[in-house]
Amino acid sequence: MTVIGTHDVVIVGAGLAGMRAAVEAARGGVDVAVVTKLHPVRSHSGAAEGGINVALGNVSDDSTEGHTYDTVKGSDYLADQDAARIMCEDAVGDILELENMGCFFSRLPNGRIAQRPFGAAGRPRTAFAADITGHVLLHVMYEQLLKHGVTVYEEFYGIDLATDVNGEVIGVTSWDIVNGGLKTVLGNATIIATGGMGRMYHGTTNAWACTGDGMAMAFRIGAPLKDMEFMQFHPTTLKANGVLITEGCRGEGGVLRNSLGERFMEKYAPNAMELASRDVVSRAEWTEIMEGRGVDGCVLLDLTHLGADRINRALPGSRELALDYAGVDAIDEPIPVRPGAHYQMGGVHTDSNGQTPIPGLWASGEAACVSVHGANRLGGNSLLEAVVFGRRSGDHAAATVKGRTKPDAGAAAASMARTQAKVDGMLSATGPRADELRVALADTMYENCGVFRTGEGMAVAKTRIAEIRATFDAGVLLHDKGTSFNNDITYALEVGAMLEMGDVLTQCGLERNESRGGHTRLDFPERNDEKWLVHSLATRTADDPTIQVGTHPVTITDYQPAIRTY
Ligand SMILES: Cc1cc2nc3c(=O)[nH]c(=O)nc-3n(C[C@H](O)[C@H](O)[C@H](O)COP(=O)(O)OP(=O)(O)OC[C@H]3O[C@@H](n4cnc5c(N)ncnc54)[C@H](O)[C@@H]3O)c2cc1C
Repeated sequence: MTVIGTHDVVIVGAGLAGMRAAVEAARGGVDVAVVTKLHPVRSHSGAAEGGINVALGNVSDDSTEGHTYDTVKGSDYLADQDAARIMCEDAVGDILELENMGCFFSRLPNGRIAQRPFGAAGRPRTAFAADITGHVLLHVMYEQLLKHGVTVYEEFYGIDLATDVNGEVIGVTSWDIVNGGLKTVLGNATIIATGGMGRMYHGTTNAWACTGDGMAMAFRIGAPLKDMEFMQFHPTTLKANGVLITEGCRGEGGVLRNSLGERFMEKYAPNAMELASRDVVSRAEWTEIMEGRGVDGCVLLDLTHLGADRINRALPGSRELALDYAGVDAIDEPIPVRPGAHYQMGGVHTDSNGQTPIPGLWASGEAACVSVHGANRLGGNSLLEAVVFGRRSGDHAAATVKGRTKPDAGAAAASMARTQAKVDGMLSATGPRADELRVALADTMYENCGVFRTGEGMAVAKTRIAEIRATFDAGVLLHDKGTSFNNDITYALEVGAMLEMGDVLTQCGLERNESRGGHTRLDFPERNDEKWLVHSLATRTADDPTIQVGTHPVTITDYQPAIRTY
């Protein structure tokens, strides 16, 4: 148990949000470090295919006003409208800056940045680099990270936030994946940028590393989590393994058909059709499948009419994924797809500078909830959120702590000792294997907290998760007791985080007795603005793990809630 570094700003996570925050903090003239369980360019941001939204107006008369409106409407009016406006207005400068840093976006014949249509966007607004947008952004941000001299603690698995005697966050205590043992990195400001938690579901687009660790770390020390019931299901994922087929396919003109060959979105969203918002399309697909018009538990995404040239130029990655994982060549045949868990709209409650109510703690990216996505995120708005609010949190954290005396190595001794005791307990425990518990959790979440939910189903999930958590807490068996690359222990820690976050999602879902965006309850099918036009806010204290669910007002500035049709 050692302190291996002391900095001004410590960022946990090196995806797009974490690296963007780090670069901005470094520009603010402070000493910055990033702690990450993966090499930065292996972060899940690199899997983003479709693109990033920005109202450049290169192919239409688009405006930041239009982008803000679409974001608020898409959110089912649960987004904070001031935050959505900041994101959409900042987008223009931020994307042009990314371009100047070296992101090679796809181009129009006139040389301007190309933009494709995406779901629930009133105009073609999504800038892209073919269908490897996230990969391009992540590599460019990594270059910037190196350029700005940010210290990277690579392959350090953050377990707990380090706190001082007043409960102020002063860094993070991690398991050193390469050498073993606990190592603490201290800082006056800590930014959680650990991404999503889709791995708690069967059938998810998320990488293995998306396990909600950062949200769980923050929650454990009393940071509120906002809108956690809202898990987004992406309409087009492959059945075998949940791999995503980008919305860009529908943006390029792909259509959805049922087993009768019908273009069924005509019934559900006659105007926007396949480009309605994701919650609408996922519910339509699920309904078709449940009513017997599916094809082997899927519907069909048909690109064949686009022709080989366009598919190879605009969607080469999607063609390859369908070939590799579904054995289907999209040039000749439709791709079987179904909804899969994709994006956590909720996260650590922050303001529009990424600051949380806990002193010393900020959050950004998918791990945070500002909130700009409300009950349903629009495709292309998440990479944007990571860039805009990553930058803002890095800037704000640096400005807040600049010139402060760095934390003393002894200040975190008590919190480090608690983490050490937890890890020692895990290394000596017996019991089932953690992977059995993850499968049990993923089954429970998939069956009871999916596209359609009921109070009864979520109550079953809540009880089941309590049982699985009790088993986990009593101890899981780690076969590997070693130090170097002990994936057994990090995997078990991830399962622990997912159990905590699955519990929070389920409890928040049980409380919200209405249907809004990604949270559709068959027993409460209507949106209830009178009671539920509020954020949910889940909290616990550092000493008592009981989850309390309260509410927090939604900021409404320009757009009064209206019935949402597409
Ligand atoms: C397949 C797929 C396609 C997508 N396509 C798009 C798209 O086209 N457009 C769009 O806008 N959005 C898209 N999204 C969503 C978007 O990519 C993500 O929401 C966003 O990239 C998240 O960025 P992030 O920086 O918050 O997290 P991530 O990129 O997930 O990074 C998380 C970081 O945290 C680190 N970390 C996690 N836990 C720990 C820990 N315990 N200790 C230390 N480090 C830790 C990881 O090492 C990693 O560096 C897509 C998502 C998926 C899954």
